[in-house]
Amino acid sequence: MDKFVFLDRDGVINRLELGKYVLSWPEFEFLEGAIKAIAEISGAGYKIIIITNQSPIGRGLLTEEGLEVIHNNMLFEIEEGGGIVEEVFYCPHAPEDNCKCRKPETGLFDQVNEKYDVDYANSWFVGDFESDREIAERMGLRFKLARGDGGLRKAVEEILKNIIG
Ligand SMILES: [Mg+2]
Ligand SMILES: [Zn+2]
Repeated sequence: MDKFVFLDRDGVINRLELGKYVLSWPEFEFLEGAIKAIAEISGAGYKIIIITNQSPIGRGLLTEEGLEVIHNNMLFEIEEGGGIVEEVFYCPHAPEDNCKCRKPETGLFDQVNEKYDVDYANSWFVGDFESDREIAERMGLRFKLARGDGGLRKAVEEILKNIIG
């Protein structure tokens, strides 16, 4: 089994403006300290997976190919900074689709479990919303709230000291 840190994307890694979606790479803005914090997680022996709701696809505002371009660029920048992300799992549905993978539903973790052997009790979820806390609780993961500039950096400091809450 491996220890993981699961990261939400919007609001944790990149800036989230309320009511606005990231629909292209130029609109993607890393939050202050996020790239370095991700590198620190990798350096501490945790594997990293990004778990994100991407309803713009279900709303017809973004294609899966378009999202892949954004994620490839994001992962390139993260790797340049010394971080390693195993994979990005996303829910492409709109809320009204009532799917099983939109957080706080746990369907994305079914996909994770097909490929990875996760030590849930010693792994973490970092998110900026209460729905992230809810999915963490459902999966038996430790949770950290991170939001905005410097948020992930602070969360990672506490994760590395094993401070829960
Ligand atoms: Mg978020
Ligand atoms: Zn879904």
